[in-house]
Amino acid sequence: MYAPNIDFGENIPSDTTKDTIRVSALHALAYCERLFYLEEVEELYTQDAAVFAGRRLHAELEKQEDEDWDELFLESAELGLRGKVDALRTRNGQTIPYEHKRGKAARDKNKQPQAWESDRLQILAYAYLLEMALGISVQEGRIRYHADNVLVHVTLDEEGRKLVREAIARSKYLRASPCRPPVTDNERLCTRCSLAPICLPEEARLAHDREWQPVRLFPKDDDRETIHVLEAGTSVGKKGEQLKIMKRDRSVEVVPTQQVGQLVLHSFSQISTQALHLCVGQDISVHFISGGGRYVGSFDPRGGSIQRRIHQYAALSSPDLCLNLARKLVICRGKGQRKFLMRGQRGLEQIPENLEKAIQQMQVVLKQIPRTNSLASLLGLEGNLAALYFGALPYLLSANLPIEMQFSDRNRRPPRIASMPSWALVMHFYSRM
Ligand code: SF4
Repeated sequence: MYAPNIDFGENIPSDTTKDTIRVSALHALAYCERLFYLEEVEELYTQDAAVFAGRRLHAELEKQEDEDWDELFLESAELGLRGKVDALRTRNGQTIPYEHKRGKAARDKNKQPQAWESDRLQILAYAYLLEMALGISVQEGRIRYHADNVLVHVTLDEEGRKLVREAIARSKYLRASPCRPPVTDNERLCTRCSLAPICLPEEARLAHDREWQPVRLFPKDDDRETIHVLEAGTSVGKKGEQLKIMKRDRSVEVVPTQQVGQLVLHSFSQISTQALHLCVGQDISVHFISGGGRYVGSFDPRGGSIQRRIHQYAALSSPDLCLNLARKLVICRGKGQRKFLMRGQRGLEQIPENLEKAIQQMQVVLKQIPRTNSLASLLGLEGNLAALYFGALPYLLSANLPIEMQFSDRNRRPPRIASMPSWALVMHFYSRM
């Protein structure tokens, strides 16, 4: 049974059912599964010169419209496909869909023109969709390659229909998957892919294989700046397409959003809703940091971060991975504290024995960390490191300091600021790094 949904002319439904796949998405699928996933699942699109050139070609063709020309939107729920056929012509009583391509045709061994694999799937899908949606018999589709002015005929037979059905099934499978497919093995496809700046295929290959020699596919880095708003009481607002930063003393600085990639608000600085909307529109992330330097949260409108989050949550539900990350964190912190003590002893005339001993013992504890197999024992080692570090800190201070400047003990968050001298604030800050 057919379930046609036909609409001639310009009245193309906005987005009908998500159960049907666009024919152009099948073209992307045949080109590279990762490209399909980026466009169809993550809804990431870019428009490079090739995309604009393709659109110009179609606009030109529409101007040259003849009586055979008809743009047609079709959908078949039974087949699971929808699409807009570029052109339909009738030849010897046969309805034939046409597809126009800007580039050159592929060539077989005998240099005869033929359709590229992705173009072949696309025209077969249009022909099959016509059959299913209109209940007519379609025997072939045709592709005109404008760069070498070649017309390629593609026959719709049982094998072609099977190919389309398999591609639709694969599309549905990928659409339901939370994982991006790997980058294609055919690197030449990436050099012509409009989504390369988002997909980062060379970086992905390098991450997979450290011996990989990356090819630079695109020149542009994100060289936008990160703005830190440090003063409490500063407010960030919107002024046209600019961010207006006003300090408590009413002095104002205006920054064009094109120059900004990230905005970091420290302490009790404010941002208006209008400025947040502007940041979303310009792909600017906003991060909030507490007055004590603790990360509070982020407002990140950038595309692509959903997939990253899915992987992060999945990874953080693995106890082994969590333990591994925690080990690395404790090692980094312990090494940093030990380094701080080692640097501190440089200026001392005589190195206190206890300081030297603490540095050595910290090294012993650090070596035990990779062998820990539970979070509980790791917490114990972290505690040992902290005790050694804070026990050694007073030896970095001169013995001649007045008593109120001596280091006696740590106090928990929030620290007792009222009685805390400024140097201790600095120490407190270091201890939390
Ligand atoms: S850059 Fe390469 S791997 Fe990435 S989507 Fe494009 S063709 Fe596929």
